[in-house]
Amino acid sequence: GGDFAQKVDYVFKVVLVGDSAVGKSQLLARFARNEFSLESKATIGVEFQTKTLIIDHKIVKAQIWDTAGQERYRAVTSAYYRGAVGAMLVYDMTKRQSFDHMSRWLEELRAHADKNIVIMLIGNKCDLGTLRAVPTEDAQEFAERENLYFMETSALQATNVESAFMTVLSELYRVIS
Ligand code: GDP
Ligand code: MG
Repeated sequence: GGDFAQKVDYVFKVVLVGDSAVGKSQLLARFARNEFSLESKATIGVEFQTKTLIIDHKIVKAQIWDTAGQERYRAVTSAYYRGAVGAMLVYDMTKRQSFDHMSRWLEELRAHADKNIVIMLIGNKCDLGTLRAVPTEDAQEFAERENLYFMETSALQATNVESAFMTVLSELYRVIS
């Protein structure tokens, strides 16, 4: 914020996709503002947040888009994906179904976004390890087959959240610079 003039070298649009309640909004809140809420509510309409970073002495603005309840109705519009160069494909590691839906989300993403999009598969809620329903190896295998990065995260405990976003943003920077 503030009124300081800032020269932005690069803007990268990154989209969050995956079923409802997997933790997309909390991952974004953790990354963009270092916040977390257990009473996260779906909001109406498309929203994005920005985070400005320095990579290799350049000012990089990440513009991260969050679906707002649309995932329930399979109503994510093509405008959401348009211009996206990065994506976080998120499932809840305690909900097998959310992982089984990853291929459907991936297909939709590949149909609508930039063809060189950089994608991170995220198994969120790793703090709930005792309730795990998706073995790490299953996700790793899927990620390898589909050529995705992969990490297990916890928005609650801030585990790997920074690392997941920074991996995508650094790769985007590497490709463009
Ligand atoms: P979204 O629908 O994908 O945006 O999911 P939300 O971010 O709204 O999160 C859904 C619910 O899961 C909320 O109650 C969150 O507090 C909770 N949640 C999100 N991330 C985590 C996490 O890493 N661990 C735990 N235990 N709960 C989480
Ligand atoms: Mg949400």
